[in-house]
Amino acid sequence: MFLNPKPIYDAAAEFDNLPGIGPRAALRFAYWLVTQPKEKIRRFAQALLALSEGVTRCSVCGAWSETPICSICSDTKRDKSVLCVVATNQDLRVIEESAAYKGIYHVLGGLLDPIEGVTPETLAISQLTKRLMSSESGISEIILAFDPDVRGDTTALFLIKKLEPLELNVSRLARGLPNGAQLEYADGATVASALANRKNTVN
Ligand SMILES: [Zn+2]
Repeated sequence: MFLNPKPIYDAAAEFDNLPGIGPRAALRFAYWLVTQPKEKIRRFAQALLALSEGVTRCSVCGAWSETPICSICSDTKRDKSVLCVVATNQDLRVIEESAAYKGIYHVLGGLLDPIEGVTPETLAISQLTKRLMSSESGISEIILAFDPDVRGDTTALFLIKKLEPLELNVSRLARGLPNGAQLEYADGATVASALANRKNTVN
């Protein structure tokens, strides 16, 4: 029986752990990488290491950052009175790329999904309320920028109720986003229009 050298299996096993990659594709990556120049593989390995050693969560908004406070939170030109709550860093990136938003962010780290075990405690919700209740927050408007699906709706309803006592202006992205769409894959113009037409959540 033919066996590959162990390093090929070891590398393939790591690729197999990546989201959306099956065992065949994982093995194909390993076969391809083994043909590449040593220097290229070294750079690849170093880039992976830098991910775990050089990236941290911003202590204010929870976004991935190379510094303890991210470039958006430390930017004096951003409007600190408007806070956009997003599920993930990818969603933050999409909104930034739309160039339609100049406020600040809060990254929850996911959307509520009790069946999958994602509860309020596993998301950065207590950090959000703490942030809003802090006397120097200065935040008067909240934009909930979640995917227009069940998890997005569940999370929005939960937060609207939770934030009610703070009497802030809370809005949600307009349904410029098609139902079931993922913010991550929306183009800049769609995101910009969803932001511009955001709906106030007060009935
Ligand atoms: Zn930040």
